[in-house]
Amino acid sequence: MQIVYDYPLYRPPSEANSVIFQVTIGCSYNKCSFCNMYRTKQYAERPLDESKTEIDLIAAEQPWTRRIFLADGDALNLQTNILQQILEYLYLKFKNLERVSCYAMPKNLLQKKDTDLQLLREAGLTMLYVGIESGNDVVLRKITKGATQNGIVQSCKKAKKHGFTLSCMIILGIGGKTYSRQHIIDTARMVSKISPDYLAALTLHLEAGVYDEFMNKYSDTFDPLDDLDILEELDSLIRELAPINPVLFRANHASNIYSIGGTIPQDRDGLLALVDELKHHPEMLRDKSIRRF
Ligand code: SF4
Repeated sequence: MQIVYDYPLYRPPSEANSVIFQVTIGCSYNKCSFCNMYRTKQYAERPLDESKTEIDLIAAEQPWTRRIFLADGDALNLQTNILQQILEYLYLKFKNLERVSCYAMPKNLLQKKDTDLQLLREAGLTMLYVGIESGNDVVLRKITKGATQNGIVQSCKKAKKHGFTLSCMIILGIGGKTYSRQHIIDTARMVSKISPDYLAALTLHLEAGVYDEFMNKYSDTFDPLDDLDILEELDSLIRELAPINPVLFRANHASNIYSIGGTIPQDRDGLLALVDELKHHPEMLRDKSIRRF
């Protein structure tokens, strides 16, 4: 028997080998103008007994499971006691379980009390993926992210304070040509303040379902970046990042036109050399074999 998922189903690239339990459906916010992921879904929380039935099913078939990802868009929005019960049941059923992760919005983190986050961390929620997109407040407003630079920094610091492994995602090209420079400078500054464990740089890709809305909400002309502009943003981002602790950097999402990775700051020069090579050899773009240090 298999889990019957409510599609579309998304997970970060690094959760490719994880078992996925869909404990919520869709995204509780669902208003970011660039995001088409859950537009076809009404946000809902799965009843606890349904989640437990699916956990029983997979535990019988794959008892060796080490990694679990809780879908959909922001499982952290669940009431703390429900999420705590799910986590406790997962660790009861999967004896080798090492990691449970989910997507989280800055808003979810700000809304949870410190005691709630502590409880969830102790119950075994280990890793959070937070889409921070940009550190520039004008861009954040134009993409209707529902978050400010300050709020994002506070939320991510809160997650780190409670010991969560933090993976942040930003989007290259989301400021268009008009805000490109400020987007990168402010994003690098924000990421440096947060100093997440992982940073993923995605590239803006507008699907048909959100294209008009994105353009309308941008209000002034949005001038999209071409491949070379995106590489310039990537170059500037890598140069400007000054995290307090090393950050494992990846640009290997399906939206990227290349696939690179390394640790900042120690691999900064190597990553810059790779980006420079890509700039001068466009035939290397869209070759998705990862180049890392
Ligand atoms: S980007 Fe994240 S928070 Fe925004 S609508 Fe999409 S899933 Fe929801």
